[in-house]
Amino acid sequence: MTRYVEVLFNLPLNQSFNYETDSSQNACFGKRVVVPFNHRELTGFVVAERESVPASVAYTIKKVYRVIDSEPLFDARDYALAQWIASFYFCTVGQALATLMPSGRKIVPHIAAVDDTELNSSGLDLSEEQQYACDTIIHAQDSTMFYLYGITGSGKTEVFLHVASHCIANGKSVIYLVPEISLTYQTAEAIRQRFGDKAATLHSALTTSERFAQWLRIRRGEAPIVIGPRSAVFAPVQNLGLIIIDEEHDSSYKSSDTPRYHARQVAMHRCAVEHATLVMGSATPSVEAWKSMENGSIQRFTLTKRLSGGELPHVHIVNLNQATGCLSMTLKEEIRKTVAMGKQTILFLNRRGFTYHYRCTVCGYELVCKHCSVALTYHKSLGQAVCHYCGYRVEAPRICPVCGSLDAKYVGFGTELIEEEVRASFPHLRIIRIDADNADKRTVHATLNLFKAGMYDILLGTQMVAKGLNFPGVRLVGVVLADIGLYVPDFRASERTFSLLVQVAGRSGRFSPDGIVIVQTFRPTDPSIQSACALDAEGFFASELKHRQETSFPPYSRLIRFTARSSKSEWAFSALDTLAHILRPLMPQDADMLGPAECPIMLIARKYRWHLLLRGQTMKTLHTTARTALAQYSRQSDKRVYLEVDVDPVAIR
Ligand code: ADP
Ligand code: ZN
Ligand code: ZN
Repeated sequence: MTRYVEVLFNLPLNQSFNYETDSSQNACFGKRVVVPFNHRELTGFVVAERESVPASVAYTIKKVYRVIDSEPLFDARDYALAQWIASFYFCTVGQALATLMPSGRKIVPHIAAVDDTELNSSGLDLSEEQQYACDTIIHAQDSTMFYLYGITGSGKTEVFLHVASHCIANGKSVIYLVPEISLTYQTAEAIRQRFGDKAATLHSALTTSERFAQWLRIRRGEAPIVIGPRSAVFAPVQNLGLIIIDEEHDSSYKSSDTPRYHARQVAMHRCAVEHATLVMGSATPSVEAWKSMENGSIQRFTLTKRLSGGELPHVHIVNLNQATGCLSMTLKEEIRKTVAMGKQTILFLNRRGFTYHYRCTVCGYELVCKHCSVALTYHKSLGQAVCHYCGYRVEAPRICPVCGSLDAKYVGFGTELIEEEVRASFPHLRIIRIDADNADKRTVHATLNLFKAGMYDILLGTQMVAKGLNFPGVRLVGVVLADIGLYVPDFRASERTFSLLVQVAGRSGRFSPDGIVIVQTFRPTDPSIQSACALDAEGFFASELKHRQETSFPPYSRLIRFTARSSKSEWAFSALDTLAHILRPLMPQDADMLGPAECPIMLIARKYRWHLLLRGQTMKTLHTTARTALAQYSRQSDKRVYLEVDVDPVAIR
């Protein structure tokens, strides 16, 4: 018998298409099909089945070539989640469905035997603080949110695992989210030991067919606990009881592709809709989360004791303004001492890639935008300092406007320069560097192992070296330039700097009673650096929240960012100019617009980039405004320009 199916594609196309299918094909809701589309073969998602085609259909109905899946990949609940993603993050439902599904082509049938392993407990007696947190979370009502706030080693993971076991014992499922970088073999192994075959791990090293196999296991209810990075928040678990977000502040929870979803936002939505509990944890919560804890919408548990033992390292701030190169006398002296003791050093370079900023070496004055209060970026070719949020520009001053000093310079140091200086200063030491951006995980792992085995004296690198921070041989951790983050024109610069320094300090010195951390900075008095080195989170959040409130940035507002990319800068600009004209009469009272301005990184992959920020008090009104404007814009859009929408942007690059 002839039937019809309605199909959505992973395309920026807000329309579904009907295809003819015969019953032998077994095409049904939730399966993928291969169909003809615009003289191509395309894979689509079946979202409805019907007996006849709606009268409104004006195109010729073609036939389904073949059905890919033997059992449905998604159900009504997943479909509803995809619809929510599409409307919240401004993508099509087809794109949202593609994001939910594990990517790839074929499924290898894999039926895992359900093993009746008892849940293993760690055998540890919970501390009073841990016990109180567990009891409260376990007895909480539906859709409440909790936060475990405490330094590394304070026992957060132990609480996560306890509440997870409890949840599973009650016949419910758990999603356990971890940052991309920390999902190592060890983490997965720890979970496997605790939960046996009940756990499904969705890490990035899985092949496509392994990923599908895990996905189907989860859907069938064979794996009540799922551990994975950001995308695991979509895991099709049955009877969701709990979502855990470890290291909640981590930026890998935000997707950098369309749809640019944030796993925390999706988790909150799922917990509300599916009546589950959300538990997050970190030593350095995001400013958003901290504000929610302060106003009570998230309940906080503070874990104050370091249960893993070990002392916190001594943190010293070194003023770089007096140094000649990028290594201060103090840092060099400590490296020598460390080597003499037969111990190792890690030099932390912070994130790579940053721009030049104007600062006075005498009084520390810096140029910031008078509208946005973010650092201005110096453009040598223009002789101007430019705000990359609103477009404001000024002549770059030659003398400091505050103290009149002539000794103002444009600061920036690259990682290559630092490596050169380290090698030149210590020609006899064994030095190894981990390159953050392009290193594959296996190489990093191998390098870390060699370092752990004592084959090197100094390990140099960015984020990736963080895992080495608690190796037994490490005595000294040097943060070469703590303020790099502060020069990035981003309202989250201080938050990132603070978070990074606390993470570094918190992870170091677990094995070394005399472990020390040296933080080099041009701004020894900056509040984010001072509070980080004093491990004073309360102090940092208080001052940062006040600052955000004064400048109306999140969490005191919400943002939607529009980025236009094009092979010509003018085209990208004029697309946003058009959009700005459409937006202006639609603007709600409590909202404003920043830009269009050139993006901080103006050119990526030969495409020029401009952006426009929409800022308002509630996401609801911003959504409505943006939706109306985008609909109008799409009727007059320039095909040479690609427009990207980012709701709640995290990194403004
Ligand atoms: P976090 O997640 O906050 O870094 P973990 O839960 O991983 O902390 O705990 C750190 C270390 O302390 C682990 O080795 C863990 O086994 C140990 N630990 C946790 N809770 C307890 C406890 N109640 N008693 C003794 N040791 C504990
Ligand atoms: Zn000055
Ligand atoms: Zn500005």
